[in-house]
Amino acid sequence: MPELPEVETIRAQLDPRLAGRTFEEAEILDARLTRPRPASEVEGQLVGRRVEGVGRRGKHLVLTLDGHGELVLHLRMTGRLHWHEGGAPVQEPHVRARFGMDDGGTLTFQDARRFGTVTVLSGPQQRDEHWRGRVGVEPLSRSFTSRRLGELLDGRRGPIKPLLLNQGVVAGLGNIYADEALFAARVHPERVAGGLELQEVRRLHRAIRDRLSVAIGAGGASIDSYRDSLGRRGTMQDMLRVHLHEGERCPRCRAIIRKTRLAGRGTYWCPRCQEAP
Ligand SMILES: [Zn+2]
Repeated sequence: MPELPEVETIRAQLDPRLAGRTFEEAEILDARLTRPRPASEVEGQLVGRRVEGVGRRGKHLVLTLDGHGELVLHLRMTGRLHWHEGGAPVQEPHVRARFGMDDGGTLTFQDARRFGTVTVLSGPQQRDEHWRGRVGVEPLSRSFTSRRLGELLDGRRGPIKPLLLNQGVVAGLGNIYADEALFAARVHPERVAGGLELQEVRRLHRAIRDRLSVAIGAGGASIDSYRDSLGRRGTMQDMLRVHLHEGERCPRCRAIIRKTRLAGRGTYWCPRCQEAP
């Protein structure tokens, strides 16, 4: 599932290709993408609109449109965006939407499991309503300080890992990078979030930023279906230290990495580096 580094990789590729271009065609082939809005309504909102830039909020790709609009693409489980420089794209599986630009380029939205979404927000009020509570602080922004993380954890009685996965608290972390950041910070995933020591909060803050930055540099992790918008695989999967490494040795202390389920998600940690509560 694409997390912040994968979506950021796509954003960086699409921004120079789409900024300044106008939608000439918009074809929503699967009505589930735009629910509860009708596909034809969303198509009509896009044709003729110019893209001002491609941004990101958490795991959402956000195309800023002229007239204060936004096109929000959420890849969810298996969504994939593929940019084709010119001409009609060759046959691709699971194409759910196709966007033709005025320079002849085409962006396709493929989605095997059909959990992805396409949303057009037409003005400031709709934008505010859409984003309110949906995405928390951006972990690579200046406003994400270790003090801010401490405030977000303060008083929380649940375990730390599910809190990190909560998009309304810190935006963009998913199962891969939550496991990797907790390992780097030497914090057990089941520790009570509000009970972390100041030093642990500082380590976790640094680890979140570090792991996400390294992953962006690596073009994301291609574990399941993820490919970037040019069809390439990332290399971060080769640099994961605990995630998917059950039964192997910890790269730091040589203990055997373990896996459990926590809040329904496969969770990997080192029993020696990350002391259980
Ligand atoms: Zn270890």
